[in-house]
Amino acid sequence: VTSGLTVKIVPDPDGCSVDVLKGSRLRVEIGEHGFVELVDISPRLCPPGRDPDFAVIRAARTSTDTALKDEADDHKLMRYLFRHRHTTPFEFVQCSWLMQLPIFVARQVVRHRTASINEMSGRYVELPNMFFVPESGGGVRMQGTANRQGGEQAASMQDEEDFRFLTTASITGTRQMYEGFLKKGYSRELSRIVLPVAQFTRWAWTADLWNTFHFLGLRMDPHAQKEVRDYADAMYEILRCLMPQSVAAFDDYHAARGALTFSRLELEALTNNDHDPAYLSGRELKEYQAKLKRIGR
Ligand SMILES: Cc1cc2nc3c(=O)[nH]c(=O)nc-3n(C[C@H](O)[C@H](O)[C@H](O)COP(=O)(O)OP(=O)(O)OC[C@H]3O[C@@H](n4cnc5c(N)ncnc54)[C@H](O)[C@@H]3O)c2cc1C
Repeated sequence: VTSGLTVKIVPDPDGCSVDVLKGSRLRVEIGEHGFVELVDISPRLCPPGRDPDFAVIRAARTSTDTALKDEADDHKLMRYLFRHRHTTPFEFVQCSWLMQLPIFVARQVVRHRTASINEMSGRYVELPNMFFVPESGGGVRMQGTANRQGGEQAASMQDEEDFRFLTTASITGTRQMYEGFLKKGYSRELSRIVLPVAQFTRWAWTADLWNTFHFLGLRMDPHAQKEVRDYADAMYEILRCLMPQSVAAFDDYHAARGALTFSRLELEALTNNDHDPAYLSGRELKEYQAKLKRIGR
């Protein structure tokens, strides 16, 4: 049955002909087993001399029914869009990644709901004999006091050695149990329940550029756990190689990268040169005072 509709081949006005990945993938390795790999990007075929983020401009210029302009003009428009949070044009770039990461890191990454994920299945395959053990020479942190969520100071050499030794012993024990269960014929889906969150998993992760920046903003922040930051930093570095202009806009305008915003109340206090306004209290006052410090007031 045919629809009767005619599909025409029309010329591409932007002349997209260059494979920006040149038939390759871009990878950053993280520790002994981890990695982040850019598998694909859309658009992958770009006009000569352009980066994939030309698609941001191409989408934005449909508003004014205009074509791409010279690069300098297009970059100015991109920075304008970023500054004013005209977000949808940034969704016209899609990044697909392959990540190998420990489950405790994956649990944080999976919270970012705008990404699509397809993970290796411990029901189908035997999970790899790969576990995260913090590196020696600063990888083990003691519980923080100021930052109640995170680890702060590096453990002493002895404490670090103890932690690594006991962790490795526990992991080795559970791995042996897992393999023993499989050998005995227990199902993979149940045998895996003895494995720790240090177990590595692998998944395909795809998101548009705006939501990838949102993810990077939250997970490159110093408040994020170091082990998830390593993954965000790796993704950032790959994107920086591929799309330096939009990454520069992210660096210049995103709060998590150093841009500073003031609430209406903070601005009122700032205008009155008031460092201790009664209408700000607790954490909000501390945050305001930290902002003052940053601008040298
Ligand atoms: C340092 C840090 C500590 C954290 N600590 C904890 C913790 O202790 N416990 C915990 O459970 N989580 C914790 N989180 C996770 C956090 O609460 C968020 O779930 C996570 O950062 C994802 O953020 P997001 O929702 O903005 O991102 P995404 O899920 O990627 O969503 C992107 C944006 O899309 C929009 N959006 C997506 N889904 C919806 C929806 N259903 N409805 C409306 N808008 C939507 C929102 O604008 C959102 O900001 C922590 C995160 C960080 C960075």
